[in-house]
Amino acid sequence: MASTDFRHQSIFVNAQRQNRSLAKRPSREKLILEIEQLRQELQEIKGEKMQLNILLEAACARADAVEVLLRESNQQLQAEIADRDRAEVAMKEAQAELQSIQTTMSIDKADMEMILEATIEHGDFVENLLHDQCIRDPVTGLFNRRYLKEFLAREIERSTQAQESLGIIMLDIDYFKRFNDTFGHDAGDLVLQELSLFLQGQVHNSEIVCRYGGEEFILILPESSLEDARQRAEQVRLGVKHLNLKYHGQSLDTITVSLGIACFPEHGKTGTEAIGAADAALYRAKAQGRDRVVFF
Ligand code: GH3
Ligand code: MG
Ligand code: MG
Repeated sequence: MASTDFRHQSIFVNAQRQNRSLAKRPSREKLILEIEQLRQELQEIKGEKMQLNILLEAACARADAVEVLLRESNQQLQAEIADRDRAEVAMKEAQAELQSIQTTMSIDKADMEMILEATIEHGDFVENLLHDQCIRDPVTGLFNRRYLKEFLAREIERSTQAQESLGIIMLDIDYFKRFNDTFGHDAGDLVLQELSLFLQGQVHNSEIVCRYGGEEFILILPESSLEDARQRAEQVRLGVKHLNLKYHGQSLDTITVSLGIACFPEHGKTGTEAIGAADAALYRAKAQGRDRVVFF
């Protein structure tokens, strides 16, 4: 553009000069010559204008391309910003979750520590409770057969070494099925509990009473002769008859028991054999009419 201005200026100056010289010496040939010169210069200007137009179009096309590029990179940038925002939200959510897991874990840890402390502090009590549950019958609270086996093995060993006799009393409630049928099973359970309490009151320090089966019980009497055992069995038989049994205020029938006695080592060389002998004696007591003591 600057060169075009300059050219216009020079044309104008030339024309002025020519005017001045024509004014001095105006001639037709000179005028034609000057007009021809002006036409040529006009042609040149037109050519330059065309070139400028071409340049202008090229510049516009470049500007359009640049604009497209800018728009594309702007879109890309916006997408990246959105991605980053999403990632930030996800990270915050993950942080919150982590925090809540940490809180839960510290609560759990505190609970575990408390349980551990309690377990250490009351370990003996829990152990005793569990042991008790393993060796006792839940209905009557008496020792069960598992404990009887352990206890008898220990006492047989001890009696053998001390060369002492050990008494075994096996007892069974008479006609208990009929009792249940008359008063109901719950009343029968109460009788089993009352009888168990009574039997527990009958045994001394080194002796035990166990629930052997449904309505069958065993007393193990260490350091006891056959005659000692017979007397104790008789006491039990009479005591049972005097139990004042009541269920929901209603008086229940008196119960009787049959008892079989055997002694170790006289009637059996092992605990199992001695129990078998007591059971055989009990069977005979039933056969002889019940409510009695029979020894092997
Ligand atoms: P026997 O004089 O020959 O011993 O007669 P019985 O009826 O006592 O003997 P039997 O073996 O015919 O019946 C035993 C009864 O004991 C039957 C059963 O209902 C009852 N029994 C056993 N265990 C329980 C218990 O845990 N609770 C109650 N309520 N009854 C029981
Ligand atoms: Mg019975
Ligand atoms: Mg029975």
